[in-house]
Amino acid sequence: MSRTAGSRLEAVKDRIRTSGLRCTAARLAVMDHLGMATGPRTHAEVSAALADLGFDRATIYRNLTELTEKNLVSRVELGDHVWRFEIKRTDGRGSESEDHPHFLCTTCGEISCLDDVRVAITPKTRGRATGSPKGGPRASRIHSVTEVLLKGRCESCG
Ligand SMILES: [Zn+2]
Ligand SMILES: [Zn+2]
Repeated sequence: MSRTAGSRLEAVKDRIRTSGLRCTAARLAVMDHLGMATGPRTHAEVSAALADLGFDRATIYRNLTELTEKNLVSRVELGDHVWRFEIKRTDGRGSESEDHPHFLCTTCGEISCLDDVRVAITPKTRGRATGSPKGGPRASRIHSVTEVLLKGRCESCG
């Protein structure tokens, strides 16, 4: 088990070094914490989780900002004006994976990443192949989608 944790940390160290940052204990702890999280975490949550290791809130904030600038971490805003941070996932080929939707449980408040889900916007056609004369379906007016948030109840809340 410790061997698995060891190689996981080695991979995290590699990513930090490749970005050009020095691999400090705080950066490693932040990256590892976000890497193991099931969803994006707020600055307060990361600070609370790493407080036992002796890092204060300011240190965590500075590291989250630096990791975001280096594109190792991304910031998401899910409509409540709170930044949440998550590690940028990489696929097997080492390139950045696509943005993924998030799921908010309205009962317990847990937010999770839906890494393996893709949400597509599909206009209803209803057999009108020509579309409406006034510029077509509304979905076609969307230029790009930056964030998709699904709400509901998680498995444990039933
Ligand atoms: Zn829940
Ligand atoms: Zn996510």
